[in-house]
Amino acid sequence: MSHTFDAISSAEFEAAKSIIVTLKDHGHQALLAGGCVRDRLLGKTPKDYDVATSATPDEVCKVFKRTKKVGAQFGVVLVSHRRHEIEVATFRTDGVYRDGRRPEDVIFTDAEHDAQRRDFTINGMFYDPVEDKLVDYVGGQADLSAELIRCIGEPSKRFAEDHLRLLRAARFAATLNFGIEPETFNAMLKYAKQVASVSPERIRAELALMLVSEGRCIAWKALCETGLCNHIIQGVQWTIDDQNNARDILGRLPARVSFPLGLAAVFSPLAAERSPDTRKVCRAIRCSNEEMESVCLLLKWVYRVVDDGELELADIKNMLASGHFDEIISLATAFTADEYGLRIQALRERGDKIPVQDHAPPPLLDGAFLLEQHIPQGPIYRKVLDAVYRAQLNELVTTVDDARAMAQKLIEESD
Ligand code: ATP
Ligand code: MG
Repeated sequence: MSHTFDAISSAEFEAAKSIIVTLKDHGHQALLAGGCVRDRLLGKTPKDYDVATSATPDEVCKVFKRTKKVGAQFGVVLVSHRRHEIEVATFRTDGVYRDGRRPEDVIFTDAEHDAQRRDFTINGMFYDPVEDKLVDYVGGQADLSAELIRCIGEPSKRFAEDHLRLLRAARFAATLNFGIEPETFNAMLKYAKQVASVSPERIRAELALMLVSEGRCIAWKALCETGLCNHIIQGVQWTIDDQNNARDILGRLPARVSFPLGLAAVFSPLAAERSPDTRKVCRAIRCSNEEMESVCLLLKWVYRVVDDGELELADIKNMLASGHFDEIISLATAFTADEYGLRIQALRERGDKIPVQDHAPPPLLDGAFLLEQHIPQGPIYRKVLDAVYRAQLNELVTTVDDARAMAQKLIEESD
């Protein structure tokens, strides 16, 4: 497969190109760099366009009117141009890495050395949009063709410098559906433990990108085979079987999934005795409360679908009211493979027939009625109200009178 920098044009590309033209007019070298070059060679729309230049940050600020120094110590200037904000970074080489994440300082240099400090060969290319010329010092084009993630330089050294690269390797393998070159892979194995020093927020961001991408199985496989999964999702003891099951379940999910659904898929095969405290694990990987509740809800319902044969109408309405019905069906389908196909299909059909106003109708009975009956406040309220509402959802109680009669009966029984 040969790659060409085809003519995908966008307003942002034109803005970046115009910045490059201006920098060149002022005697500087300037190129598109990194991810945008990779994505365009793959025929994908880049997330954003980054410019790399020989101009120092001060020189960049002199050339353009609207500029903001964002990463002054790394030589990054944000240039506002034609309603776009483009990152313009001075060619640099990184100084010593002390904390396994950020270099202590940077030294401004030329394009070739700037390429050397980048992580993977496919991310280390430049493109000159004026001359329509690819500038590839690192063999990036060959690896794009071979569909390989390969470190620039010596993999062990590159992972030792910056542990986040361990996750970026798995993530790019997933999002691009690429393999990981063996030496790079071996170095990942060797350095996997170090990933624990990456901030939980960064781990979460990378994991989310991996699990929502269609290549989530590839990512999961890489995370398991390198041992990274034990270090990024702590508090879970994965057996090889769990890991393989999780991979198969991920593989049976639909193409587009949310991060909580991806996480629930990964946790779903854990047998009861190794089942983690899902909330604790979710908190440790910096899920929001909403994400954490979604993961728990998905797992709860999927186990119910599998364990409880026929669910009651009230259960199906509760699933619908949760807003996660489709995701529950997707996960249940993936979790059970074909074993429960008919059961899940029947569940989906029952759910689809229930009109939206019936998912969570206003309760026929509330606490005021119990107060009127001089029932002392206490746990009995919740018990009675829940039971009556469940009967209402099951359409066994359809009027206020029915609801009151049922409540009265329950109170008498509890006396
Ligand atoms: P994405 O599509 O996810 O934005 P990207 O390749 O553009 O992918 P960015 O995180 O935006 O990734 O980084 C831009 C470029 O900076 C990368 O292509 C790579 O050349 C370089 N880079 C980013 N992070 C690192 C890192 N941790 N180590 C070395 N180089 C990096
Ligand atoms: Mg980017």
